[in-house]
Order: sequence, then structure tokens, then C-alpha cells
Amino acid sequence: MAMRKILSIVQDADIYRSSVINLQASENVISPNVRRALASDFASRYSHKENGVNDYGGTKYAEELEESVNELASEVFNFKYADAKPLSGHVAAETVLAALVKRGESIMKIPERNGGYQGYLNGYLPSLMGFRSYDIPMKPDQAIDFESFEKTIDYIRPKVVILGQSVFVKSYDIPKVRELCNSVGSMLLYDASHVMGLIAGGTFQKDIGLCDVVFGSTHKTFFGPQGGIILTNEAEVFDRIEKKITWITMDNFNISRMAGVGVALEETKKFGREYASRVVKNAKDLAKELDGKLPIKYSPWFTESHQVLIDEEGLKKDGYDTIKFSEDLEKNGIIVDRIGRIGTAEITRMGVDDVQPIADMIKDAYIGKDVKERVNKFVSNMKMRYYES
Ligand SMILES: *Cc1c(COP(=O)(O)O)cnc(C)c1O
Repeated sequence: MAMRKILSIVQDADIYRSSVINLQASENVISPNVRRALASDFASRYSHKENGVNDYGGTKYAEELEESVNELASEVFNFKYADAKPLSGHVAAETVLAALVKRGESIMKIPERNGGYQGYLNGYLPSLMGFRSYDIPMKPDQAIDFESFEKTIDYIRPKVVILGQSVFVKSYDIPKVRELCNSVGSMLLYDASHVMGLIAGGTFQKDIGLCDVVFGSTHKTFFGPQGGIILTNEAEVFDRIEKKITWITMDNFNISRMAGVGVALEETKKFGREYASRVVKNAKDLAKELDGKLPIKYSPWFTESHQVLIDEEGLKKDGYDTIKFSEDLEKNGIIVDRIGRIGTAEITRMGVDDVQPIADMIKDAYIGKDVKERVNKFVSNMKMRYYES
């Protein structure tokens, strides 16, 4: 096979992605200013400052950047300490767990069948790091089963409890979880990967400050490039986490990526509240519009986040599954993931305040109509907002 020039693949990907409606819950678009930061000279530089000494030279601006980004993150998320060095949400989780959980100890997490992150399942991070992972008991409607949790947490006595999900439509009762954690001496962690932008905008899990450590991705509902961030109010905990970064979970931190996260934080500071409330409104509206024509979960409240969840059992009755559903929409230029989530972060960033036309196109594509032309027309009217042009 004749290999194409890499830059022509890159160009085609850019053109393709700007010609479709992206409803993937794990993704977002980055602004031209974030792109500018990503493509800067920082992309090939090093900077390691520890105990006041940098191992590299020429780092004057890299040091200024690191300090400014972390300070901005601490301000935007309202936590005393922040570190945006982690290369991804997964690396942020790994770093926090390396600092707080020893070999042989236990964690409790949201089970995968209730939307929990696979990385915390036995076989992934727990087997890499030598600890055991147990399920937090859940009710079918994405709520914690506290009666059962009270008993299991007392029996397991986990070092940490990790809240947060990848399939995620509802905030937790954090004061109640906090109380249970306190009763057995567990720390409370929150993996906010999916909802980081909603938390920054104050529309989801408003009491997040009650957790010991919050961490997650910078690129799902948040405006950043792919990366991770760690937040805490506790100096001693932060210190332990910081010690697990350099030469343990990573070496360089991709300075240009961190610069991109910094720009995204500035955008969030200015536009984050409006953005986050519109994302959630769009998700609720989209769920309402689709319900009845498509099997949508959790009627009548549907969602409190950026995600609308499709009920796979219902899809099967219509001769569909989540894979075929996604493939059929993709043929029409509408992108959703293959596991039944529809996300409204990116369309909201792209200026969509009325989701009715999108709902109509999805409904029509679902019954086999060709909606490509309508998608093209809709896309040509989308325009990115929430950045300084
Ligand atoms: C996506 C996700 C991660 C992993 O994030 P990356 O940034 O892709 O490494 C971790 N936890 C949860 C809950 C997620 O949804």
C-alpha cells in the first residue's frame, strides 16, 4: 500500500471533523487559542523544577507557565492546591492512587455495570499497583444504595472510596458518603473526568469541595486538550501526590499541553458558567425530544449532566443495538459512541442552543431516512464560541 503523506491525513481529519455533528460524550472541541498553545515551541521542551532547582536550562517561561496554570486551576475549581501536570485522566488517577493506597490495601469504586470506570476494575490499575478493588453497592437508577454501602464499607474498610463514572447522569449525595468514609477512616476521592467542565461551571456536584481529592480529564466537558488535573485542599495530601509524579507516573509533562489547559482555564473563567448550564439544558431538552421515538433512560428527569443515555434493551426491540445505532448515525454525519451515550458538550461549544433540529435528524436516521443533506446544512451554521477571538 502506498503510504499517504501524514500531513494530508491530518488535514483530512480536520476537514472531516468539521463536517459532522459530534455528540460524543467524552469529547469536545478546542479553541484556536488552545491550538496555538499546543503547537508552540513548548511542545519540545523540558522543565523539572523541584526544591527550587530546575534540571534544565532556558526554562524561565516554562516555570512561569506551570505556576500560572496551577494557580488559575486552583482559582477556577476553588481548591487550594492544583496540579495540571498529569498527561491524562488515567495518569491523574494512577498518581493519586500511588500516593494514597499501598500494596495490599483496598479501594471501593462505582461498578462498571453502573457506569464506573474500567481502570478501577481488578485486572487494571488494582493489579498493576497491587491493591484490591470492591464495588460500591448501587441501585438501578444510578444512585448509591446507602443501606448496603454502610455495611460493606464497614466490612471492607477501604483506604479510599472513589466516586465518579464514565456513564454519568447524576450527582451523588456527597455529605452522606463523606460521613460513611469518616466512620471507617477512608479518604473520599472523586474522578470528575467526564464532568470537569460542568463542575468548573458550577452546574454539577456543587458540594465537590467535601472530597479529599478531585481529579480527572481536561478534555471531556472541560475546554482543554487531552490531559489530566488533580485538585485538593489538603497540603499534606498534595505533597504526597506531588512526590508520585516525576519519574514515577511520568517524566515530562508536555509543556505545550499544559499551556493549552491554561488557555482553557482562562476561557472557563470567563465563559464556564454560561457554557455549563447550556450543556445541561441541551442534554435535558435533547432527551425530552428523543423520548418516545427512541428508548431514553431515566424518564422524566433523564439527566443532570451532559449525557443522554440510550436504553439498549429498548433498542433491541427496534432491531438495533448501540453499535448499529452509532454506525447508522455515522453514515449520516452524526457521531455518537458505540456504548449508548449521547453528549451535548461539543454542540454547545459550537453554538447550539436549540437541539430540536438535531433530535429530528436523529429520529429520522433511526427509522432509516437519509439525513446527510440536513446535517451538512446544520453544520454550516455552527460556529465556535466561548473563547477570545
Ligand atoms: C475517560 C475517563 C478516564 C480516563 O481519562 P483519560 O483522560 O482518557 O486518561 C478516567 N476516569 C473516568 C471516569 C473516565 O470517564
